[in-house]
Amino acid sequence: MNRQKRTQELFREVNERIHCIVGPEAREAGEHVEYLCECGSLDCMETVKLATYQYEAVRACAGLLVLAPAHQHEATGRVLAHGLAYALLESVPNESADPPQPPSARGADHVYPQ
Ligand SMILES: [Zn+2]
Repeated sequence: MNRQKRTQELFREVNERIHCIVGPEAREAGEHVEYLCECGSLDCMETVKLATYQYEAVRACAGLLVLAPAHQHEATGRVLAHGLAYALLESVPNESADPPQPPSARGADHVYPQ
């Protein structure tokens, strides 16, 4: 896995934690939250303001990244949608990608109360 891909995964992990910290009330209310740009650049400090339900829709689709609009060309992939506040990018599968992680490799804190 290349460095950009690893950084994208790291930033997704951080976004998952942000989403978790926001709390169930804010998630139910669909509040806007500042997530990190997932362009995969190590020095990217951009945030992307999304409603919690928008972020949930992004993470429900494997390979979708949320990026700051100015960074939509920083990552390799196909831009699916972009607006003033965010860009959605479908990352191109890496042919030399690592095999999928077993479920046990992911933390239990990815499970949210319904
Ligand atoms: Zn970025």
